[in-house]
Amino acid sequence: MPEIRLSLPGRDLSYRLVIEAGLRHRLGPLLSPFRFPSQMVVISDRRVARLHGAALLDALAAAGFVPTLLTTPPGERAKTWAAVPRLAKELLARGVHRATPVIALGGGVVGDLAGFLASIFMRGLPFIQMPTTLLAMVDAAIGGKTAINLPEGKNLLGTFHQPRLVVIDPEFLRTLPRAERLNGLAEVLKAGFIRDRDLLTRLSGLKARLFRDEAELTGTIHRAAAIKAQVVSQDEREGDLRRILNFGHTLGHGLEQASRFRLPHGRAVAWGMVAALALSERLAGLDPAEAEWGRRLLRDFDLCRPLPDLDSNAVMTALRLDKKRQETGVPFVLLPRLGETVILDRVPLDLVAEVLKEIIGGGGLNNSGRNSFITSTM
Ligand code: ADP
Ligand code: ZN
Repeated sequence: MPEIRLSLPGRDLSYRLVIEAGLRHRLGPLLSPFRFPSQMVVISDRRVARLHGAALLDALAAAGFVPTLLTTPPGERAKTWAAVPRLAKELLARGVHRATPVIALGGGVVGDLAGFLASIFMRGLPFIQMPTTLLAMVDAAIGGKTAINLPEGKNLLGTFHQPRLVVIDPEFLRTLPRAERLNGLAEVLKAGFIRDRDLLTRLSGLKARLFRDEAELTGTIHRAAAIKAQVVSQDEREGDLRRILNFGHTLGHGLEQASRFRLPHGRAVAWGMVAALALSERLAGLDPAEAEWGRRLLRDFDLCRPLPDLDSNAVMTALRLDKKRQETGVPFVLLPRLGETVILDRVPLDLVAEVLKEIIGGGGLNNSGRNSFITSTM
């Protein structure tokens, strides 16, 4: 069974990420080493529960467990404080105790919320991630971050609570809508940009075929998840190394905020990566031909459709207000070469604004000045 072991050496803790098509039907052997009690709680959102809940409950029952399913509304709105006491009351009503495992069945939203609850209920329940979106499979479900939103902003309350196991079944992606696939693809490409040019080469050969070829898809998830796991295992709590995972996200978050979160995360991050490639050419010595090849790859995956009417001033304001930002410069993860990172702590805001105007204005970022990444080829 293809698997990745994520070790946190400082804490003498490790867990497996197991990746295999159809894995959700074969949970017995995966779960038996843990000697969990028979009761088990599955938390999901209503859409995922409708598509995949019954099969999971059957598989758990077949493995000798007595599962209960709790659901939340789908989407980011579910990640509220109000959901926490509501779900906690449900756990109490079902007699959940400190050894009862919680399985998060869903995307990043469900993982964040269920993980948060599991981390604080009776000071912590065993937690299992079963991601159903590409984004969660390669990113959100790995590394132990949990969070809920406040009206003032996203992910403002959160904890670190590492899962005991991450069960990745690529077959879940068969029902995932195309827009959600694109969100995950941006994170897959990010993994390649920061750590693995070969992954990018492989993806450029596959393009849209990726989702039709389950073996390639499984291999791609494996590689991207391994990169995330490797970074996390060397740096669990946001030291310098974990910051490389923010590639494309500095400006990406600014774009998301300026669009009032109408721009999907993947497209925001993709444009953030386009900008970071341009800044890498200017500040980190990235070969312009490589930068252009990287931008073409993002375009080929249809991640660079024109931005809705965004005000570049609003984006710059969001950048300035984001945590820990200096007045004259912002930290950026840049690439001296594709697959290698360098962090510059103070990229001048003027330069960021210039690159941003080229993106939003559609002026193009390559040396020839053509409008090189606005047109979609798919
Ligand atoms: P993310 O993983 O990007 O944070 P969410 O948890 O918000 O995403 O999930 C995005 C949307 O996709 C939600 O509406 C969720 O119900 C839906 N979803 C998640 N997994 C699947 C799946 N395998 N098939 C169909 N829809 C899914
Ligand atoms: Zn992201």
